[in-house]
Amino acid sequence: MRPERKAKPLAACNVCHALTNEHELLNQRCTAIVNNRRCYGIFKSALSYLWDACEGCEATGMIGSQVCTECKGFGWKMYG
Ligand SMILES: [Zn+2]
Ligand SMILES: [Zn+2]
Repeated sequence: MRPERKAKPLAACNVCHALTNEHELLNQRCTAIVNNRRCYGIFKSALSYLWDACEGCEATGMIGSQVCTECKGFGWKMYG
């Protein structure tokens, strides 16, 4: 059985492009740590970005039984 394609992530950081599906994080400060500092970006709604389906996993987030490392299991990558 082939896994189903995932829905696009809920939101993405406008600075480091970290992805999240947590509603509480929408329009909140990014939780990613970059160079030992908390990222200063904001999680913006994914609707404000363009998306590409991950080529490694074809938007399923999985390669076989492994989480896709290219998209960290989200199945999508920000365009560009
Ligand atoms: Zn960030
Ligand atoms: Zn992938």
